[in-house]
Amino acid sequence: MVDSVLSHGAEVWGVQLAAKAACCHRGSAGSAAEKLQLSYLRHLLGVRQSTPNAALLAETGERAGCGGQPNSGTRRWRSVPAACCSKRCCPACSSQMAPTPWHSSPGLPSWAAGLAAVGMQLDLQQPAPVDLGELGEAAQRRQLAQLQEALAKGGASRLEHYVHNVVGALNLAPAMFGQRETYLDAVRRRQDREALAQLRTGSHWGAEETGRWTRRPREQRVCPHCHDGIEDAPHMLLTCPLYAPLRLNFPDLFAEPHPPHRFLRQKPCRLAAFAAACHQRWLTATVALPAVPP
Ligand SMILES: [Zn+2]
Repeated sequence: MVDSVLSHGAEVWGVQLAAKAACCHRGSAGSAAEKLQLSYLRHLLGVRQSTPNAALLAETGERAGCGGQPNSGTRRWRSVPAACCSKRCCPACSSQMAPTPWHSSPGLPSWAAGLAAVGMQLDLQQPAPVDLGELGEAAQRRQLAQLQEALAKGGASRLEHYVHNVVGALNLAPAMFGQRETYLDAVRRRQDREALAQLRTGSHWGAEETGRWTRRPREQRVCPHCHDGIEDAPHMLLTCPLYAPLRLNFPDLFAEPHPPHRFLRQKPCRLAAFAAACHQRWLTATVALPAVPP
């Protein structure tokens, strides 16, 4: 029942929301509904609200513009002419309602504008079927273009981490969007899944992230446990001696040296269990650290 209600709402209001989302830049939320969707996705992943939209959408396989809005709009586009050809009954009084001309539906121009923003032209006067596959590919290309635009502007350090350490700079392609990362389904233990999501998105517990809160220069966000490098995700996963005993418990993950983006492609349940163990180890070790003067 929930799905049918949500689907109906998406088909009624989705066209306007999709158009609004299509007009925004850098993957930022274009409507209150989209902000709510992105906030909810961050909550599901257990990452901070400052996590970049592009990384969030790539992880979850969702599309900008409230996920299925373009698809819902397309379904509505297909159903409108048929609905106009047959008389319908008012659900309140059961009297017959006059058919509405399909092309006068108020949301369709907005929806067509949304499609145009992703590179698909729609002639409202001469309806033609919209290919869902083509629409999905166009949306993926637009998401990639927004990510590259954000990278080119500079200052997006979390996004740079995601591209270089998680995706791999040479693997940037439209296909990185539109498919949910396997660990989100495979890892059932919430704290394991969240720890891995935090390391992947850069929204983790290390000094690289916490230093952002106090605007500390990146070069000063040194690991407080080994003082040998910035405490970012690759440092914690691969080199910090604080986690050396844990690595012995996961020999399958460390059988051969990997760059970060290849390391993170290993078995998701093992990676997530290791990430959660690292977080727990960090919590224990951090409590034992001497207080740092402000
Ligand atoms: Zn360290």
